[in-house]
Amino acid sequence: MDHIASLRDTLKRLCPALELREQEPMSRHTSFRIGGPARLMALPADPDQARVAVTAAREAGVVPFFLGNGTNLLVSDEGYDGFVVRCSDRSVSSPEPGILRAGAGLSLAQLAVAALERKLTGLEFAHGIPGTVGGAVTMNAGAYGGEIVQVLRSVSVLNPDGSRAEIPAAQCALGYRRSAFTDGSRLILAADFTLSEGDPAAIQGKMDDLAIRRREKQPLEYPSAGSTFKRPSGHFAAALIDRCGLKGLSVGGAQVSEKHAGFVINRGGATCRDVLELVEEIRRRVRSQTGVELELEIRLLGVGISPARTE
Ligand SMILES: Cc1cc2nc3c(=O)[nH]c(=O)nc-3n(C[C@H](O)[C@H](O)[C@H](O)COP(=O)(O)OP(=O)(O)OC[C@H]3O[C@@H](n4cnc5c(N)ncnc54)[C@H](O)[C@@H]3O)c2cc1C
Repeated sequence: MDHIASLRDTLKRLCPALELREQEPMSRHTSFRIGGPARLMALPADPDQARVAVTAAREAGVVPFFLGNGTNLLVSDEGYDGFVVRCSDRSVSSPEPGILRAGAGLSLAQLAVAALERKLTGLEFAHGIPGTVGGAVTMNAGAYGGEIVQVLRSVSVLNPDGSRAEIPAAQCALGYRRSAFTDGSRLILAADFTLSEGDPAAIQGKMDDLAIRRREKQPLEYPSAGSTFKRPSGHFAAALIDRCGLKGLSVGGAQVSEKHAGFVINRGGATCRDVLELVEEIRRRVRSQTGVELELEIRLLGVGISPARTE
């Protein structure tokens, strides 16, 4: 029996209530709608189940991949021959005035609405970002002048040995689309946000305004993973791609959006291979025509690497 099969058996024995799925199509868990099967997926509903999943994986010599809503993720067509943990804690509470505590699996839309319901301002920017709290903290997600770093107070994490830690935001190394968690070694369980009192009508108005701006600019009618590339210093990736005449460029079902050159969209039936070939072509042409090197913002899973294993 291999490591993953024995991990599955251990998890079934240790925690019968933990939801496990085998050969789970990752296309169901990514906004690109791309990706072959994950060999084993666990969906812990609370921190105790998450601890069992993480510690059993460590004992089996398997490094888990932590999944949020898959909105910044491209998964190989062959899938991922490893262990995926998707934290499904969607709890939200307000332990102190002005503080919102959210489980890692809560969507940013639900988080922003929870803030609105408590007359708290600061999370309007996050309402239209389709990720979860865990993914947003990992990526330091941001939009329209707002960014997670501006409102994060602390993050509750599970270390690989199963111990829990509360990390203040100042120690989370939050930078442009990166954090102390982008190395994938710790599972984010929850996060606390510091918000200010606000006027509900103004909060709602700002969220509505940003939603309109998003719908006007972004190809939300097609599957994608949002901005394909990071913003290169001194430039905008979309403007460079547009300037190189690449809107509409296609490989198979993958296409540079005609509406927003910063997005690669799945026009139907796109494979991971299509997206990667298109990405390489964009990078090559932008490099040769402008001298700027584009760096992927989208995270990759199962692409060109075998699943992470300890030992
Ligand atoms: C249409 C569209 C619009 C978008 N607009 C924006 C935007 O305006 N601004 C922006 O910043 N992004 C945007 N994105 C990208 C994406 O929504 C964000 O990066 C989001 O924060 C990713 O969250 P997720 O839960 O989907 O994470 P995933 O894509 O599932 O994962 C992203 C990373 O976070 C890690 N991760 C996820 N959950 C956890 C956890 N609990 N513990 C530890 N690690 C974890 C993963 O391992 C991975 O490395 C957009 C995407 C789409 C499809």
